[in-house]
Parts: sequence; C-alpha cells; structure tokens
Amino acid sequence: MLRCAVKPSLVLKLIGKTNLPSAAYSSTAIPQPITSPDVHYTGVFINNEFHKAESGRQFPTVNPSTGEVIAMIEEGDKADVEKAVKAARSAFRLNSEWRQMDGSKRGRLLNRLADLIERDQVYLSSLETLDNGKPYSSSFMVDVRQTINNLRYFAGWADKIHGHTIDTDGPHFAYTRHEPVGVCGQIIPWNFPLLMLAWKFGPALATGNTVVMKLAEQTPLTGLYVGKLVAEAGFPPGVVNIIPGYGPTAGAAIASHMDVDKVAFTGSTEIGHLIQQAAGSSNLKRVTLELGGKSPNIVFKDADLDHAIETSHFGLFFNQGQCCCAGSRIFVEESVYDEFVERSVERAKIRTVGDPFDMKTEQGPQVDEEQMNKILALIESGKKEGAKMCTGGGRVGDEGYYIQPTVFADVKDHMRIAEEEIFGPVQQILKFRDISEVIERANNTKYGLAAAVFTKDLDKAHLFSQGLRAGTVWINCYDVLNAQTPFGGYKLSGQGRENSLYALRNYYEVKSVITKIPVKNS
Ligand code: ADP
Repeated sequence: MLRCAVKPSLVLKLIGKTNLPSAAYSSTAIPQPITSPDVHYTGVFINNEFHKAESGRQFPTVNPSTGEVIAMIEEGDKADVEKAVKAARSAFRLNSEWRQMDGSKRGRLLNRLADLIERDQVYLSSLETLDNGKPYSSSFMVDVRQTINNLRYFAGWADKIHGHTIDTDGPHFAYTRHEPVGVCGQIIPWNFPLLMLAWKFGPALATGNTVVMKLAEQTPLTGLYVGKLVAEAGFPPGVVNIIPGYGPTAGAAIASHMDVDKVAFTGSTEIGHLIQQAAGSSNLKRVTLELGGKSPNIVFKDADLDHAIETSHFGLFFNQGQCCCAGSRIFVEESVYDEFVERSVERAKIRTVGDPFDMKTEQGPQVDEEQMNKILALIESGKKEGAKMCTGGGRVGDEGYYIQPTVFADVKDHMRIAEEEIFGPVQQILKFRDISEVIERANNTKYGLAAAVFTKDLDKAHLFSQGLRAGTVWINCYDVLNAQTPFGGYKLSGQGRENSLYALRNYYEVKSVITKIPVKNS
C-alpha cells in the first residue's frame, strides 16, 4: 500500500533528519502559520536603511495561489545598484569597522542573524509561502530551518579562515593570507528565496566580504525582511545591501559593474551564459554559477521498490518540481518498469494539491503564470512526441497557478521532456536494460548537477557514484542537502560549489607573502 500523502513528518525524513537541528519539529508540532502576514518592507536596502528606487518605479509581487497583487515593491535598477556598490565599497575600505572586525565577531553577527530568523520563523515561513506558493510545512521545516543551519555553519568558519606557512628554497620565509575578494554581487532565484540568500550570505560574510544582493523579482518579500534583521543584528552599514528588481536591469548592472569584484549567480543556464559574458567584457570579476539540471535517477530491480517509488516521487515533485536538482529523468530497469510506473502513477494521483497554508497540502501553485504556461507547453510537447501521459497534464482550477501532478511513461531520450528542464510537477519515466547502457544515457546530457541510484548492490552503487558526471550523487536517497556538503554542477550546470568548505574558497583571494631572512655567518 502506498502512503496517502507526504505528511510534513515525511518531508522531514526524506530530506534527512540528521541535517536538521536536534529540536526538530514533528508534523503536529509545527506552529500554525499566519495566513495573511503583513508586509513591512518593500524598499531598496542600502546602508542598513530602506530607500525608494531612484527611478520612482515600483513593480508588483503576486500571490501565486490567487494571482492577486500582494504588495508593490521598489524597482531597483542600475542607479540603485550604483548606490549599493558605493555603500559596499565604503564598508570594505581598509580601515572600516567591518575590515577591522575580528573573525569571531563576524561569526557572532552571523549567529545573531540566524537567531533573529529563528525568532521570526513563523512570520518568515508564512511570508515565504504567501510570496512563493510553497506549502507552509515546507517553508517552516525545510527553507527556514536550513537557512538557520546554513548561517550558523558559516558563522563557525568566520574565525578559522587562515593561510599556510610555506617552506621555500633559499633564505626566505613565506606564508599565505586568505583575504576577502571585496564587493560581491549575488543574484538569486525564486524557488528557495530565503535559503538561496543564506547559501550566498554565509560564505561571503564569514570571509569578510561585502555584499550587493539582487532578489528574484517574483519573490522579494522574505529577502527584504532579512534586510531589516541584518540591521537589527548589528552588521555595520553597507556590509549587506539588498536590491529588489528585474534581471535584465538590476541583475545585469551587477554582473557588468566595474567595481564589483565577484558575482555569484543561481538561476537558469541561459542567464548563466550572460553573467559569464558580462564578467568577461567588464572587469573579469570572479564568477560562480549554480545553474540548471536534468538529473538522472536510476532504479535497479534489486532496489527496495517501496522506498525507491516514494523517494523518486519526492525527488521530482518536491517544491512543485521547482528544483534545479529535480530527479527528472527516472531510468527504471526493464523487469520492474511496469510496476514502478503503475505505482508512481497511483502515488501522483493522491498527491494533495491546494492551499499552501493548509498543513495537509503537499503541492502548492507554481510560482507565476509564466512558469505555469511554460510547464503546460512542455507537457503538450511530451504528448505530441509520443510519450504516454498516465495522469495529470492540465491546470487545477482556474484561480492561481496550480498544475496537476503529471506522470509520463515510455519517455525516449530524444524527447523535449527528457532533455529540457521542466521545473514543474512532471515526472518522466524511462526504461533501461543493462548497466553500461544506462550509465551512458544518464550522462548523455548537457547538464551535470545531481544524480541518484537506487540499489542494494554495493558494487553497482560504487560503479555509478564514480561513473556519473554530476556534482552530487545520492545513493538510495534524494535531495539530501545540507550546509556541510558541497553542491554544484559539472558541465552546463555551473561552476564552483555552494555550501561547505568549498564555498568559502569562492570568497577569498590567496596572497603570498615572502620575507627575506637575514643569513648570519657564524
Ligand atoms: P528563471 O527563468 O527561473 O526565472 P532566471 O535565470 O531568469 O531564472 O533568474 C534567476 C535570477 O537571475 C533572477 O534574480 C533574475 O532576475 C536574474 N536575471 C535574469 N536575467 C538576468 C540578466 N540578464 N542579468 C542578470 N541577472 C538576471
């Protein structure tokens, strides 16, 4: 028997309980949401204050459950980026409070920010759900929990950033210093607004940089509230600046700015190319990119099938399918293929779709109308190209941007739904016969973000963890992400790694200092 619905407690289990704080919440212990959270901050955050946009323009942020405008937001653009970069540069000058601050104090500030987010976790989780549409249970237990964990993890690193002493040939003493890169532009997407902010703030601030962050235009509310918490925590003015606004204007201004030393971007591969080009044609700023994916999830006949079906369901449908690492090409061994498809379809049919503030909801609306239409068009292409649509395929109702959980079987590698990132609740199930065939097919993609293998055979697990060209390989699990483990892509899925010690490396320059040692003749 399949489970009726993924309860919040199961979400917790599936993302890996060990990643969460020991005081983890059970489904019954999640505090009730605030279903109509007030919006307090809508301005451009520079020097610890909220400002009107220089252009005088505003843009709407929309509730994806209803299509109604939640609030009008100041539309940051080039002129606001200019002001923010000046503030960040000033906060970074050599004798500034921030540059002179002990690493341990930087760590305390990051911890204080995490404490304030924890203090306001119900409000922030509710605001995230209102603006993004994700179920409140996920906002509370995944997004906000992991945001807090992430900031605390990097807080711990702040006073442990140091270089090496080096033996050299000749009478010289050499050592390295790990120094902050400078003003860091950070551009984040809408699928995990708070968590992506934390993934970028943590390593940048722990290493002593200053930040100009652009929020996604679809989901600016929680990031702006964090601005207020940054000021409350006591970060010096100008260390963190936050711009709500559009990509081709505010985002592009950051990527091409001559006085931004580094840009970190999470979003589509298409825009990743533009960021890289803008950096190349401006000041060669350092670039890290976390981009798209079309991750293979390989299920062998020897796997625990109950677990593989439920986890593959989770690995695709989690967050309305809006995950760059979604397991969106599920390769299933021939002899268990029909059973896997049949049971995956049953599971998708009972997925609870609806009001994201309802604790029983597993799936809320897609983030906006544009994404919904893009997903519906890809579903049509799957039907046209001959894949078998077993369930779903359309909108749910006509209010908000809800899509039925959709499952395609008999999917072939060349179909658009097997090649392109759908970023929606659409599961593709493909068939395979033998090991060498599936490893080649799994790797036959321009992407390389993540992959998974379900098997009880240790040899197969090792073979695949080595053979798959992806930044993360999950074995008998999916979407287990935490602050300690690096995350990022091979190939067109990106450059550099988020989280862990490896993320810190993106945020410091290495300086060699070499000193002559006087040689005395004795
Ligand atoms: P999606 O298609 O899922 O919205 P994008 O890659 O377009 O993903 O957006 C991710 C982030 O990149 C958002 O903050 C968006 O505003 C920003 N962005 C979009 N276009 C550009 C651009 N030309 N330059 C810089 N940032 C951009």
